[in-house]
Amino acid sequence: MIESSPAQGNNLDPWYNSYASRTAGLAASEVRALFAVASRPEVVSLAGGMPYVSALPQELVTGAMDKVMADQGPVALQYGSGQGVPALREQILEVMALEGIRGSADDVVVTTGSQHALELFSKLFIDPGDVVIAEGPSYVTAMVIFNSYQADVDHVPMDEHGLIPGALREHIARLKAAGRRIKFLYTIPTFHNPAGVTLTWERRLEILEICKSEGILVLEDNPYGLLYFGDRPPAAMRSIEEEGVVYLGTFSKTLAPGFRLGWALAPHAIREKLILANEAAVLSPSSFTQLVVSEYLSQADWRGQIDTFRGVYRERKETMLSALQEHLPELSWTNPNGGFYVWLTLPETLDSKAMLPRAVKELVAYTPGTAFYADGNGRHNIRLSFCYPTPEQIKVGIRRLANVIGGELDL
Ligand code: PMP
Repeated sequence: MIESSPAQGNNLDPWYNSYASRTAGLAASEVRALFAVASRPEVVSLAGGMPYVSALPQELVTGAMDKVMADQGPVALQYGSGQGVPALREQILEVMALEGIRGSADDVVVTTGSQHALELFSKLFIDPGDVVIAEGPSYVTAMVIFNSYQADVDHVPMDEHGLIPGALREHIARLKAAGRRIKFLYTIPTFHNPAGVTLTWERRLEILEICKSEGILVLEDNPYGLLYFGDRPPAAMRSIEEEGVVYLGTFSKTLAPGFRLGWALAPHAIREKLILANEAAVLSPSSFTQLVVSEYLSQADWRGQIDTFRGVYRERKETMLSALQEHLPELSWTNPNGGFYVWLTLPETLDSKAMLPRAVKELVAYTPGTAFYADGNGRHNIRLSFCYPTPEQIKVGIRRLANVIGGELDL
């Protein structure tokens, strides 16, 4: 838990002593300044998780916008329901059905991206000192939110099959014995960010069983599930269990993040609270973008468009893994079956955070593993994103990274 100290800041800030204690975790990350440098065009960035939106034909979006304004202009420009546009919530059910989820549009709450759903959910459930269990590593900006509500994140290890059920049992037992209050399990079971692994079907069943018997709610965050490289997407945990799972989805990766549209599918009682929290935060999600996305979904071949994205990302992943095999064969990495990320393990003697400035100097950027742990772990890991750079840039980036790593090992 974050101690009740003022926000990190400097003494030139006249309000330094006035910030709420919960803001202590809202410090700019140490690597942020470097990322500003890394956005120079000559740097190959394998750091960010930006979808390749250029693969989306812009005229499809323009067409949907024009139609919305012609047919429903005054509605699009007005405040709307705090739960979201009913027609869009019905269409969201069709999207989720691809991952085996059945539900009611009444239980869908539209949010400003799934990031916002994480914020609302945390506001509803976390009291200072509560524990959130998450995979180790986990999604960095979810942990920022959990920290801002003054929770402790307890990381449970993963292997190539995802979160390890036996380790989850041990952690729960240890936390309970210490009198800690566990609020929920935050999990990214499919094409994990940052680890790139997927929880197996058997483990999904086992983990749901453990959480059910221990009375722990599961928060399933699934932005990448439809970006699978195999024949079909893995079935969501929510497709197996309804009452004990809150599911988060988003249009950010399957359409475009600029819409800022995501959703939560929650059991009735939680859904009611989420709507109230949504209204308190934003009154209503953007009517305009909801109607545009709804129009896009009803007119465009959105399934075909997702297939196009899948093809783009599959090719980039294969390019990245071949380049790793060519230039860094002595290291190990994960082989994701979908999504955006590869998790690279460095030799024990190397520190990914310390190495980053040298990498940026060599014109390649990545995210150090430490960003994805609340407890300082991850020094020997790197997250590599293959979503945004072209295959050519990926080849160049991995070659440069191999030079940096080689140089470090020679020191
Ligand atoms: N969860 C995970 C695991 C993510 O990777 C991201 C985006 N990087 C989000 C949530 C937030 O996505 P959105 O754009 O829907 O807010």
